Amino acid sequence: MTTERRSLPSVGVVLERPAMRALIERSPRTLVTDAVRAIIADARADGHGGATLPVDDDGWVREVEQRIAHRIAPSLRATINATGVVLHTNLGRAPLAALALEAIAEVSRGASTLEYDLARGARGSRHVHCAALLTELTGAEDALVVNNCAAALVLALQAFAAGRETLVSRGELVEIGGSFRVPEIMSTSGTTLVEVGTTNRTHVDDYRRALGPRTGAIVKVHRSNFAQEGFVAEASVRDLATVAADAGVPLIHDFGSGLMVDLSPWGLTGEPTARDAAAEGATLVLMSGDKLLGGPQAGIILGRAAAVARLRQHPLARALRVDKLTLAALEATLGLYRDTAIAVQAIPALAMLTATPARVRARADAVVATLARYGQRAHVAASEATVGGGAFPTARLPSWCVVLEGDAVTLEARLRAGAVPVIGRIADGRLLLDLRSVLEAEDATLATLVRAALG
Ligand SMILES: *Cc1c(COP(=O)(O)O)cnc(C)c1O
Repeated sequence: MTTERRSLPSVGVVLERPAMRALIERSPRTLVTDAVRAIIADARADGHGGATLPVDDDGWVREVEQRIAHRIAPSLRATINATGVVLHTNLGRAPLAALALEAIAEVSRGASTLEYDLARGARGSRHVHCAALLTELTGAEDALVVNNCAAALVLALQAFAAGRETLVSRGELVEIGGSFRVPEIMSTSGTTLVEVGTTNRTHVDDYRRALGPRTGAIVKVHRSNFAQEGFVAEASVRDLATVAADAGVPLIHDFGSGLMVDLSPWGLTGEPTARDAAAEGATLVLMSGDKLLGGPQAGIILGRAAAVARLRQHPLARALRVDKLTLAALEATLGLYRDTAIAVQAIPALAMLTATPARVRARADAVVATLARYGQRAHVAASEATVGGGAFPTARLPSWCVVLEGDAVTLEARLRAGAVPVIGRIADGRLLLDLRSVLEAEDATLATLVRAALG
């Protein structure tokens, strides 16, 4: 042991300082003790003995308080998404509608009818809560809600194809972000993947030829996050429905996005809606709740009554079931779809996607004007936003950014460290804050945070 190391105080000695005793009155003792221990350990590790330790009571209090503040700060925090990617998986995908937030608070504040049948005054099932709304809105015979779309696929494969073979096109053995890879999901579900066709072209006859006595299911995966162009061909869900029916196996359509309304009036074309998908003849249609549907994380299964009933009774359904918070938010979000005009305004993801460029520009102008009032320089520039969340992969939404002047890397780090972190994007050495992915209600906060970061 070196002389310097011996000069480090013990935790007990530091805790005896009057200022530390006062601090323990205000904060949990273990937090203070842990902070002191960590400060001493860091001083030991830096090899300079006690040279970097606080020198007086004030110094110790400051350092300990800083460490406690850091430790008790929540890990999951609200941020402002100024990336221009509307459904950003890393930033929590769809923001919830006000009505969905109210429903969560209402249902989770106290007891609820989660599994209670009010009419009969007896035990009920959580599976009833969104089912009727989902069938009403999509035309499907029945519906079931599980944890997410990946869980929906695992459940469907386990129930219908475990120990048997599942046919999938080579063009659909995709990765869909967040570690969702079709071949891996297959093996996790205990089914043997049988690759059909080629990367760019798969025909109905390829499926017919691959069918055999061990076939348990045919899976069709929506290519949600990339596009194929050129010499390409794929079998339609309708054609595959016939193949599957002839063979007596289910057709499982991993549809993904959960688009509930036709967004072509707003320039987003080419993706089928859930109602379209449900009408195409697949036995089961699987989709996410927190992508274009604009609700909470969930896996929604639509399909034939007998097939959905089988999933509902499968033991895995218990393991993949959703909480009352999810059901409350999903039911409230789905309710908004009874009127499309209301849905596109009240569901934040849809409001962001359908906002006019002029509106986005006006908001960017207003943020720049606010900054100018405080002598801070920024300007407005045209940009292109994207949908994100594995939907409309090639769509570019005309948008507007606030461009901050100054070193982009420094500004980015400062905004990320703010009271509410702001996540922007750097392009050509400039920091851009794209207003299309920012909630309108956050504009004033955004301006305040930018002021703090620049000032
Ligand atoms: C996004 C997506 C998934 C994964 O959905 P999660 O809800 O994140 O589990 C699966 N399949 C498709 C086609 C998707 O687009």
